[in-house]
Amino acid sequence: MTTTVKPKIQVPEKKKESASRGSVYQSNQLNLWYDTNHALKNIDLDIKENEVTAIIGPSGCGKSTYIKTLNRMTETIPSVKTSGEIIYRGKNILEKGYKFEELRTKVGMVFQKPNPFPKSIYENIAYGPRIHGIKNKKILDQIVEKSLRGAAIWDEVKDRLNENAYSLSGGQQQRICIARCLAIEPDVILMDEPTSALDPISTLKVEELVQELKKEYSIIIVTHNMQQAARISDKTAFFLNGEVIEFDETDKIFSNPSDKRTEDYISGRFG
Ligand code: ADP
Repeated sequence: MTTTVKPKIQVPEKKKESASRGSVYQSNQLNLWYDTNHALKNIDLDIKENEVTAIIGPSGCGKSTYIKTLNRMTETIPSVKTSGEIIYRGKNILEKGYKFEELRTKVGMVFQKPNPFPKSIYENIAYGPRIHGIKNKKILDQIVEKSLRGAAIWDEVKDRLNENAYSLSGGQQQRICIARCLAIEPDVILMDEPTSALDPISTLKVEELVQELKKEYSIIIVTHNMQQAARISDKTAFFLNGEVIEFDETDKIFSNPSDKRTEDYISGRFG
């Protein structure tokens, strides 16, 4: 007789309106190789707008590679080869001739380690809009305030906008990096383990922020923290050895996974 061990991760109740949502990214039979290392294998994922999609799985299974490919960051690595499609808003971003500058203005990225510029808090936020041609000081002031408010850090920094961003704590720096993304009015925010270098209180703040941000943006977050995926995401994709083993509503993944390997992973049997 086989016994099923029920995963112990609690998933908070979330509204389900997924069926009516449009797709922001669709990967179709996406493959990626670093030389001979086949790091992504036939990835099919349909990522919906205004949802938080979590990518989970053990170390080295391709999570970071996948999220970087959504922003075409992996193509700067000479050994990388890809096949298949990533459709972003109706266009295949892997196709020759795709104007990828456009993608860069639509997709914001937040990394594991906060990486503010060595500039003032104000300049960190105003930098992107300036690059996009906004020079009017009054408009830049408005963008800076709106972005910092959007990243739930305005009250903490409004009286020190000219201070170097490095003077802030790690958690504050990460919210500055999120505000920097918001300043370019992105469509999607990609987050690669955004809280793994943060303390628990800063982690909670970023998690609450993600819940707020999904009202306006689509968010894809790589996390090795399964509780975090359960708390904040609407959908979860479980990656293993470069494959998507299961992709479903987060409560389904954590309460009643279809694949034994998913169940083994979320109940802590490996990884
Ligand atoms: P994860 O984010 O799940 O930890 P990664 O996407 O970082 O996994 O890695 C997937 C596989 O790709 C691993 O075998 C890793 O060694 C390889 N890999 C990742 N980045 C590079 C790189 N820049 N060059 C060569 N191989 C890489």
